[in-house]
Amino acid sequence: MMIHERNDKIWEHMKSDCSKCSGLCCTALFFSKMDGFPKDKASGQPCVNLLKDYRCKIHSQLEKQKMKGCIGYDCFGAGQQVTQVIYQGQTWNEIPNQSKEIFDVFIVVFHLYQIRYYLIEALSLISARPLEKSIKCLIEENVEMCHYRPDSILSLDIEEYRQRANHILKQACRLLQQGIPSANKKVPANLLGGNFKGQDMSGADLSTKLLIAANFEKCRFHGTVFLGADTRDANFKNADLSEAVFLTQGQVNSAKGNRNTKLPYHLEYPPTWK
Ligand code: SF4
Repeated sequence: MMIHERNDKIWEHMKSDCSKCSGLCCTALFFSKMDGFPKDKASGQPCVNLLKDYRCKIHSQLEKQKMKGCIGYDCFGAGQQVTQVIYQGQTWNEIPNQSKEIFDVFIVVFHLYQIRYYLIEALSLISARPLEKSIKCLIEENVEMCHYRPDSILSLDIEEYRQRANHILKQACRLLQQGIPSANKKVPANLLGGNFKGQDMSGADLSTKLLIAANFEKCRFHGTVFLGADTRDANFKNADLSEAVFLTQGQVNSAKGNRNTKLPYHLEYPPTWK
């Protein structure tokens, strides 16, 4: 049974392109050494490794230097939208009196892109067709908001929009599970660090679960929901994730895998997966 209908076009604009950004994630966000970043830093302060042309000085050594926070981060394409569209190519370094505003706008647009990512995936779910109209309306609203002027973006009620989107996403998950015979299978209470090698995890709802360092080698994830799951160091070597649901590039980047791992068609193999 197919879970997704393939449509490459709907994923356009949802891939981050650092060459069109100005190192916004490496500057705007607060991060800490403990979470796998180079150093503790405040939001608005550029990372010590960010070069003047917004490239990362240690990009080729991120894995060797265990920068798991950097490797796992993905902006869903929000960075290039803020830099190229909202600020028309002007960067925080070129207009320092607006830098705080740019960083604040980036954080709002990132949240909108993250929600849009899940809505786009919901739109591709064959089981969620009855929700198509509502999902499309929410996506159109999202795209429109991401083209507003900075002051309008900063006055958006994101929480209200998120609640409406979550309501639809929950319905999409319900419809998905109704269509999978194994969907009611009990999810183990403790997944963290567990060994599930070779198991069929199809239909399991792993939303927001801690999967840190769990072994999912050779597992099958047909219609398995990964919404917000923490996949850091989880092992997906030789696993079939091709029909996993709500799995993001950031979750894949944070996990372990290899070239035999099957990924959803819209996600890319991290360079660390050999
Ligand atoms: S180490 Fe590189 S990727 Fe990580 S935050 Fe700094 S500049 Fe960005």
